[in-house]
Amino acid sequence: MKMSKLFVQTQREFPSDAEVISHKMLARAGYIRKLTSGVYNFLPLMWRVLKKIETIVREEMDSAGAQELLMPFVQPKELWEESGRWDAYGKELMRLKDRHDRIMCLGPTHEEVITSIARDGLKSYKQLPVNLYQIQSKFRDEVRPRYGLLRGREFIMKDAYSFDIDEAGLDREYENMARAYKRIFDRCGLATKMVQSDSGAIGGSVSHEFMVITDTDAGENDVFYCNDCDYAANSNHAVSKLADAVTDGSEYFNKTEILDTPGTHSIEELSAFLKIPSTLILKTLVYIVDKKPVLALIRGDRTVEETKLLNAAGGIEIRIASGAEIEELMQNNGFSAVPGFIGPKGLKNIPVIIDETVRGMKNFVVGINQTDKHMVGANLDDLGLNELNYRDIRLVEAGDICPECGRPLFVTKGIEVGNIFKLGTKYSKPMNAVFTDENGQTHPYIMGCYGIGISRTAAAAVEAHYDEHGIKWPLAIAPYHVIVIPVSTNDELQMSTAQKIYEDLQKAGVEVVLDDRDERAGVKFKDADLIGFPYRITVGRTITDGLVEYKVRETGELTTVTPEKAVNDIIEIVKTIK
Ligand code: ATP
Ligand code: MG
Repeated sequence: MKMSKLFVQTQREFPSDAEVISHKMLARAGYIRKLTSGVYNFLPLMWRVLKKIETIVREEMDSAGAQELLMPFVQPKELWEESGRWDAYGKELMRLKDRHDRIMCLGPTHEEVITSIARDGLKSYKQLPVNLYQIQSKFRDEVRPRYGLLRGREFIMKDAYSFDIDEAGLDREYENMARAYKRIFDRCGLATKMVQSDSGAIGGSVSHEFMVITDTDAGENDVFYCNDCDYAANSNHAVSKLADAVTDGSEYFNKTEILDTPGTHSIEELSAFLKIPSTLILKTLVYIVDKKPVLALIRGDRTVEETKLLNAAGGIEIRIASGAEIEELMQNNGFSAVPGFIGPKGLKNIPVIIDETVRGMKNFVVGINQTDKHMVGANLDDLGLNELNYRDIRLVEAGDICPECGRPLFVTKGIEVGNIFKLGTKYSKPMNAVFTDENGQTHPYIMGCYGIGISRTAAAAVEAHYDEHGIKWPLAIAPYHVIVIPVSTNDELQMSTAQKIYEDLQKAGVEVVLDDRDERAGVKFKDADLIGFPYRITVGRTITDGLVEYKVRETGELTTVTPEKAVNDIIEIVKTIK
């Protein structure tokens, strides 16, 4: 490919709406162009990267025994009603009506469609197990599409679905997929961590995410991990053991009473006012789960993890209550307290979920729905709760104790590029998707599902491989392997040498761009770095001594070699791509 012909327009500036590195770099280097919020054109360079990732994914899925198909992007409402997800999926599901008033949706994922395909075709145990996958555009009407390709509304995903006769079969396939995912990301040149995670809207019991660990702002997930054992989990699923803490306030309070605590709206203010550790305060938080209030009780020094609370409450959507909603809750129960003084006592008809950190708390401090007052020396019996619904709803913190080996946990940021789930019968049961066993009895399939964000993986690769000059693509997914730059296009020897290098590389199957533009060398070098060619061969004045410059983008290493050596080295390196 000649640079003069390559469809790419690099920009001088980063786009103003870009917040993260990959969005900035991909837009400025001419890989993507935004069409509308969360929807991007994949320009030729981007498409080459995406196709390379897709090829790796296909090869590994095929060699793991899965079969590729392609399902429709538009899906009928009726199927989603069968699984119960029409109501459960929430606003990310883009719903639309056709001209006959039939209601449809744009596929955010394909469990329903694949289950309907299986139920029509996989009738006997003899046909199982099967794993089917596709690579396709998905649409999710994300609340906040942002970060470019990392969180688009339209994006490319590989999604696979397995059907087994029993749990043991599913366990084997799950392991098989986990191994395939590891190979896929390794081949893409991406270091990933496999972490335990919440199952979210897809459902099921066990799931793991593959995270690209990053120190950039793009890591939307907190990953807790142990350095001494394999334990690693997304914060929405992580658990820990707690270090010892003061949880009995008898040293501070010798009776249960209501004290004036003026202006103590926060845990810090209250613990400073009473001169007690925050571990002696019972914190009460009001959340709205599926439009109804839910109370969360947790020890004062800890934070509620919303996904864990949502799972404990058995809902679909969760958010913290607004000031107005707390006011309404107070009014409905005959109180008028402001936030900071809320407590469970006297609140009727509201589910109360108590974090495990509260177990064992004695003689503590708690709000009683009276502004500027708290009850001290209180115990759970004093709060008039109908039942004690203890659950683990706390956010793990770095330094907490690993649940598996007892060593301290660490935290880092991660970008989720892949996700594998054990679904069990979550879809096959409600959709009556069954097979017949050898005794003629029918059973729902035991299913698993396995996703990889193809476009997100490309963006995550940029987050993990860049410098201030631009992208440093891992060789296996770079749009081209090498760029050949003649410094002066008017110099015959430089041009003819560059042309020969270009042709020799092309003949050997190397993906090469010749920068034949009549531009200053500085401009060409800048573009080469920005676009992120893994190797650069520069033909300049030293060609009169029979030498060219050879640059490795990843390390910045520069050497002066003969054109033949440069060509041979590149050919050998390209051969190492798996
Ligand atoms: P997230 O939690 O980041 O919203 P998810 O867990 O909802 O993602 P899955 O349903 O697990 O996503 O989808 C499988 C894969 O598809 C994800 O691991 C991710 O790589 C990719 N993906 C999901 N949502 C998006 C998006 N909005 N833009 C780009 N890729 C996405
Ligand atoms: Mg996921």
